Amino acid sequence: MSTIEHTSALRSAGLRVTAPRLAALAAVEAHPHSDAEAIARMVRDNLGTVSRQAVYDVLNALSDAELLRRVAVGGRSMQYEIHRHDNHHHLVCRECGRLEDVPCAIGAAPCLVPHDDHGFSIEIADVVYRGVCSECRAKSAATAPSLPAHRAPHTP
Ligand SMILES: [Zn+2]
Ligand SMILES: [Zn+2]
Repeated sequence: MSTIEHTSALRSAGLRVTAPRLAALAAVEAHPHSDAEAIARMVRDNLGTVSRQAVYDVLNALSDAELLRRVAVGGRSMQYEIHRHDNHHHLVCRECGRLEDVPCAIGAAPCLVPHDDHGFSIEIADVVYRGVCSECRAKSAATAPSLPAHRAPHTP
């Protein structure tokens, strides 16, 4: 999305168009799944001095207006991405924290139906698949101690 599109997205969400809001949208667009600290750094690189609190306020306003989506995968700080209303899910690496988007498991949102909805009207399913990414798997395979020869199973 361009600045023009960000401007019209802010307007149609009923938000005032300000330089920090545009800079935050541009930062998240360029670096999806950034946390508030990283976004604050990028906004500052772009605009000069902007207080941390101002950036947090911007992120809250943009998230409340559903221009940004908060991604919480536990353990690490909240991460942000452009809200595309596509109900995609996330893969997270438990070693390095790498976060990747994956589309809905099947069909349209909520795409997964609970066995018991307790009378809720379900809107989305927010799934986090946890595991170890390919790079971390390669790294641990490289550093794993190989079995010493004398402990190899004895074959008759
Ligand atoms: Zn990893
Ligand atoms: Zn995502």
